[in-house]
Order: sequence, then structure tokens, then C-alpha cells
Amino acid sequence: MSGLRIDHVGKSFGMFEALKDIDLDFPDGKFICLLGPSGCGKTTLLRVIAGLETPTRGRILLDGTDISGLPAHRRNLGMVFQSLALFPHLTVGENIAYGLRIRGADQATRRRKTEELLDLVRLPGTADRQISQLSGGQRQRVAIARALAIDPKLFLLDEPLSALDAKLRETMQVELKLLQKRLGISTIVVTHDQREALTMADIVVVMNHAEVQQVGSPLDIYRNPVNAFVADFIGSSNLLTGVVGGEDGVIIVDGLPVQTEAGRALVRGTKASISIRPEEVLVHPGTETGPNHLPAKVTFVRDLGASVEIMLECSGREILAVSSPRTRPAVDTGDAVTIELPPAACVVLAS
Ligand code: ATP
Repeated sequence: MSGLRIDHVGKSFGMFEALKDIDLDFPDGKFICLLGPSGCGKTTLLRVIAGLETPTRGRILLDGTDISGLPAHRRNLGMVFQSLALFPHLTVGENIAYGLRIRGADQATRRRKTEELLDLVRLPGTADRQISQLSGGQRQRVAIARALAIDPKLFLLDEPLSALDAKLRETMQVELKLLQKRLGISTIVVTHDQREALTMADIVVVMNHAEVQQVGSPLDIYRNPVNAFVADFIGSSNLLTGVVGGEDGVIIVDGLPVQTEAGRALVRGTKASISIRPEEVLVHPGTETGPNHLPAKVTFVRDLGASVEIMLECSGREILAVSSPRTRPAVDTGDAVTIELPPAACVVLAS
């Protein structure tokens, strides 16, 4: 069986549970992002996979083999961790070839492999440069090349781009994704940046409080968040709490019926929330009636050039609507308006 299996892994530091029963299966060759807020256990999980931390419970299996007992250096991993800085006294080429040297590769192999990797990370001809002569982005590319030199089975990266400025970071996200696609190597990246995860991942693992909240493709997680935490953490979301009104998918929000497609399976009278993305909320000038039309007031309009954000108040709740400049409704701060919530865009979260 090929791929990585994280089999009911738990990790405690004294009385503190940093990981609670993590159970995940990843097929080979995928780009996986562990995503969650600070302290949720992402790095601990990566360190357990790497063999840098011993799990309190559970096992790690790679291609069906239990590797839990193997030390990090025998797991055939490429790692880009903040704690594994480049060696400042070695050249770029010596840094990249380091892993090959300690594995006994001859000089010709080391040279060929280093040149190949420098081409791959778009730094050709820099093997003799000193690390101190490189920019932050170039250093990160060298760190990636160094980790890949040993042809690892798994490529693990902990917040690899966090030290870079916003623009370079976005460029490197695309580069890293394309590089992984070309090499087809199973890759796990820890990040707390949802945009970064959505850019790079085939599979996103959303974590909170030492537990996995949801696993899925970026689109699936964005469109179908399983709970309020995921809905709010991935992109932004409007949350309307209410009560299930019947078997027809209606949720009663502040006495007003909101038709949903997803609420049909829920039992009448139970509490439920509707999550709807700002780009799905339609804003109509004035008072309009119709299904899923609710009265609201515009509290602020933010024209951001590429998009227009309309902040609204609806029955004491803040609602955000986003439109493009072309489809911008003719409304302004202080206007009484109507918001429309298309039933198909209303994700229902059981509470
Ligand atoms: P961040 O994004 O801030 O790095 P994270 O999700 O990667 O957060 P972890 O580093 O995995 O979080 O830490 C999870 C929790 O476990 C934190 O509360 C942290 O304080 C705790 N923790 C991690 N390592 C240790 C340790 N060696 N001893 C005690 N507690 C630890």
C-alpha cells in the first residue's frame, strides 16, 4: 500500500495534549498543507512524521511499513525546517551536496546533482556563491534544493516562506507548487496562512485545538466547510444562526425563513447555522420581497479597486457582501437595502 498513514497518533507534553487522535491517510505524490491557527499542533504533527518527536500513542506508516521506531535520518525525508538553517560557512553547492556527501556519493555525482538542483530551483551557476551573498528568497530555494538532493520519499516543510515579504512569498508559493508537481514527490507543508494553503495544496488538513477539523481539496473545504471554525478560518464567511423550521430545508433566522438546500436532512426545531460566502450575498437597492430576501442597512462601502466590499447590518448582525466593480450594486453608506441569500450558496452547519 503506497502513501503515508498517520494511524491514531496522539502526543502529550506532560499533562498537555498537543495532538489528539490524529488519523489520516494520504496517497502518494500529493501536496498536503497542514493549516490552522498558532498552537493547534501542526508543527508537532510534522515533527512526529519526521521522527523528531515520539508520539505518545499511534503509529506512522510509509508505504505500509511502520516507521515509528526509525530515527529521523533513516526515514528518507527531505526537510526544510526553521531550525535547520543553511550552513553559513559552506558555499551554495556544498550546502546542497551536504546530504549526498554524508551518504558517501562521489564528487562527480555530487556535482551533477547540485547543478541539476540549482537549475530546478532557478539558481543556475551559483554553486560557488557564499550563503551571505544570497537574498532571502534565494536562500529558501537553496534550502529546498538541499532537502531534495537525497531524493527523499517525503518532503516536509515547516512554514518555509514565512520569513519572506508578501510579494516574494506569493511567487515562491507558485514555484514550490510547480516544482512539487514536476517531481511528483509527496510533500507536507505546515502553514497558518489559508491563502498559501489554498494556492499550493492538493489536500488541506484544517486543524484546531490539537484535532483535525476537516480534510479535503481547497475547493471542497472552501465550498463545504463542516463547521463554523473552518468556514471562518478559510476565507471569510457570514454566519447566521437559527432554528430548523421543517423538512424542506428552511432555517428560521430571527423569525424570517431562509430556504437552504443542505438543511433538508435536519430535524425540525434543532439549532443550525447558515454560512454564506461574501461573494454569494446579493445586495439589491431599496426594499424587495422574495424568497431569501432580508432587509438590511449598508454600514460602509469599501472600494478596493479590484473588488467592492459592502458591510451591512441585518437584524443586529454584521454581514459582508463582496462584488466586482462591474456588478457593484448602486448602494451607499446608510441606505436601506435588501440582501438575497441564494439557497444553493447557503451552507448549513449543525450546531
Ligand atoms: P505555530 O503556528 O505557532 O508554530 P503550531 O500549530 O505549529 O503553532 P505546535 O508547535 O505544534 O503548534 O504546538 C502545539 C502546542 O504544543 C502548543 O501549545 C505548544 O506550546 C505545545 N508544545 C509544542 N512543543 C512542546 C514541547 N516540547 N513542550 C511542551 N509543549 C510543547
